[in-house]
Amino acid sequence: MDIPFHKPYITDDEINAVAQCLRNGWLTMGPKTFEFEERFASAVGGQYAVAVNSGTAALHLALCCVGLEAGDEVIVPAMTFVATSEVVRYFGAKPVLADIEYDTHLMDAAKIQEKINSRTKAIIPVHYAGQPCDMDEIMRIAEKNNLIVIEDAAHAFPAFYKDRPVGSIGHITCFSFYATKTITTGEGGMAVTDNKEWAEKMRTLRLHGISKDAWNRYAKNGSWKYDVTANGFKYNITDIASAIGIAQLDKADFLTAERHRLSARYSELFEDKKQFSTYKVKEDRKSAWHLYPLKIAAENSKTTRDELIEELKKRGIMTSLHFIPLYRFSVYNDAGTPSDYPVCEAVFERTISLPLYAGMKDEDVDSVARAVIDICV
Ligand SMILES: *Cc1c(COP(=O)(O)O)cnc(C)c1O
Repeated sequence: MDIPFHKPYITDDEINAVAQCLRNGWLTMGPKTFEFEERFASAVGGQYAVAVNSGTAALHLALCCVGLEAGDEVIVPAMTFVATSEVVRYFGAKPVLADIEYDTHLMDAAKIQEKINSRTKAIIPVHYAGQPCDMDEIMRIAEKNNLIVIEDAAHAFPAFYKDRPVGSIGHITCFSFYATKTITTGEGGMAVTDNKEWAEKMRTLRLHGISKDAWNRYAKNGSWKYDVTANGFKYNITDIASAIGIAQLDKADFLTAERHRLSARYSELFEDKKQFSTYKVKEDRKSAWHLYPLKIAAENSKTTRDELIEELKKRGIMTSLHFIPLYRFSVYNDAGTPSDYPVCEAVFERTISLPLYAGMKDEDVDSVARAVIDICV
């Protein structure tokens, strides 16, 4: 039987939550969204959570709080999803790429300082695969240089850095609830911050810049009067999505434990083979294990990474690749060449993401690992 790359964990809980929403007739942002925000903020140890319709929207609104202007610069890792850097370009600002660490695929904190100049306004660390970046060091550099730290935590719910939950560390932390992420609302995202002013700004901007509380202007106690106080966006989430989110939050501990168990099982099967290098999580971190990245040692493997992907597909095993480095895309051809990012390039050439999701069976992990070993060893 085929093994998909990902399968969302959906039960009657989510189906009933959506049905209830459809029956009660309030479909767009409303009470379910506010409940989801409160529950999520407390789950990640943040003061305020602002729900939006994607992780990308959360990142965009976070940069609105930075007050980014054309010509400004923002430091992002060379290896991330394009959403991390495209939001910087929305402002006419420039994403400046930093190389990553080989073992963790995380932005190398030691390479940040050299990228900072008078135009630098913010850093966007990406918690790759769910592992938090070195936040003490990144916050120290940011403080020293007067920069804002926006965490791209699209992979990192729930994750911990030195026992602190991701969501309680940087200035604003952005999560994604895209269909393949650790919890999903179909499409959705959340920006979490302790800054009340920024939270209010993001709440206003997510719905056309309409002054707050206008969401209930169709309700009996609402009013037809509203002001538009900023040039905003159409980024609000729906109550249908938030209802799914609440049901997913209820089972997040279980989903996380499942991914931890399954990824440990993979690692055990690959650990002692010289053809592979397993993904490392540092001692002081707890990863959300959103992905299971595996590096193929080209020198030892009888098959290249690219051939491995094709061969697995023939055997009904779907994989993915996180990520094609930004400097390899035509739209980023001004960001340098592979030789400017040697570690990122080495990681990119070797890495494949294997199927990993709660609900995946132990036997499926074994079948995937057996196939990979059969092809490479
Ligand atoms: C998924 C993802 C995003 C964007 O999230 P969406 O909800 O799809 O907009 C941003 N950054 C990273 C690293 C991601 O993987």
